[in-house]
Amino acid sequence: MQWETVIGLEIHVQLATKTKIFSGASTAFGATPNTQACAVDLGLPGILPVVNEEAINMAIKFGLGIDAEINKVNVFERKNYFYPDLPKGYQTTQLEKPIVGAGHVDITLADGSTKSIRIHHAHLEEDAGKSLHEDFHGMSGIDLNRAGTPLIEIVTEPDIRNAEEAVAFAKKLHSIVTTLGICDGDMSQGSMRFDVNVSVRPKGQKEFGTRTETKNLNSFKFMEAAILKEVERQIDLIEDGGTVIQETRLYNGDTGEARSMRSKEEANDYRYFPCPDLLPVIIDDSCLEKLQAEMPEMPDAKKARFIADFGLSDYDAEILSADQATANYFEAATRASDDAKLSANWIMGELSKSLNQNSISITESPVTADMLGGLIKRIKDNTISGKIAKEVFEVLWQGECSTADEVIEKKGLKQVTDTGAIEAMIDEVLASNAQQVENYRAAPDDKRGKMIGFFVGQCMKASKGKANPGMVNQILKQKLDG
Ligand code: ADP
Ligand code: MG
Repeated sequence: MQWETVIGLEIHVQLATKTKIFSGASTAFGATPNTQACAVDLGLPGILPVVNEEAINMAIKFGLGIDAEINKVNVFERKNYFYPDLPKGYQTTQLEKPIVGAGHVDITLADGSTKSIRIHHAHLEEDAGKSLHEDFHGMSGIDLNRAGTPLIEIVTEPDIRNAEEAVAFAKKLHSIVTTLGICDGDMSQGSMRFDVNVSVRPKGQKEFGTRTETKNLNSFKFMEAAILKEVERQIDLIEDGGTVIQETRLYNGDTGEARSMRSKEEANDYRYFPCPDLLPVIIDDSCLEKLQAEMPEMPDAKKARFIADFGLSDYDAEILSADQATANYFEAATRASDDAKLSANWIMGELSKSLNQNSISITESPVTADMLGGLIKRIKDNTISGKIAKEVFEVLWQGECSTADEVIEKKGLKQVTDTGAIEAMIDEVLASNAQQVENYRAAPDDKRGKMIGFFVGQCMKASKGKANPGMVNQILKQKLDG
């Protein structure tokens, strides 16, 4: 039997407002527990929530960024349930009239094909607090700093067909919200959390199979692994004569284990109703126009421009346009070096390798775009070879010098382009490798190309990598071939 996977995602995105969605308490991450939860966040009797206009604006920008309808009248509702991290006894969210209606997010797959994933809607809501189970012997602690942090929950149509598409979608969404500046994109701090709905059906069948939902995946890698595992579990189950039951599941990224959390029968009836403390949000045209005018260039447009203006390949443009910080760095390095292709290669090569090794983001890079641009300039004008440039980069990374020119000067790395000096060096190499020279001259033409590599290597070694490799090659050929 051939199986087809069907996936729909629900994504919680924390909005990058300074204060909470219904109160003036700070949203900053990492504060001492319970120092950033005010009476409103705790839902103490008599409080009145006031909606944060910036959260509304950010949700609208998200809608504009995915070509969605914006619902000009949208309503907050109470979703009632008990949980220790929700002292109010209800979550303020949107159900019937969410702020963002249907839209789409387009993804590019590894084979270069593109696909449009429909967004069903996105709504505004508040985050809950956190239960802390470590450090408390036989008890749990509650930290309400996160309570009331603004979220948008984005719900896709079940348009995704495999883990690769799901990851491509998640990365694209990350790119959209960070480009818009509405989310810091820090998944390790829970700024974006993915719930994956997964079902399988025999290939060719029209109806969807029964789905399960795996909640709160906070990395692309965990999401991919959770999907692959769940698809396998469902197929095995059905092929063994069992049936998939609709349930909520948990996946532990650290252990790779998955388990059931609750079945549909145990699901709550949340008794939603419009929040009597909050007026409907009415968005007028002037507000929409103002936000439209503030919209940054979105990743798809940026990618197209990088291809058209800089002649980048589709692949390079996709990577360099994916997040705002990388795109900015690339454009600044290109301005400084006047070479887009070399800038792209260095950013995706040496720079990204060093950033990964040190687990830092591009905005924290000790080698700035201007410094990299200056380095690339010296490769282009033959002051240094590409190989020496890596040495210079390393020195810049260590912070010993602040420009490539300074490193080249201080360490004497300037490339040797003086014909006389190179000739002298070559003569010495040929003299001390007489046997190899004899072998070379005795070899047929088609073997010589390979054999010359040995001499080039010796010359580069003798010059400590500083001889211009093109000149070494050329002069060597003249001398050996006679
Ligand atoms: P509910 O109202 O019960 O939350 P929804 O229809 O809103 O269900 O769907 C929630 C999520 O599950 C959406 O992302 C949707 O695309 C996805 N989904 C719905 N049915 C399936 C299915 N059979 N297989 C996989 N995903 C599904
Ligand atoms: Mg739902």
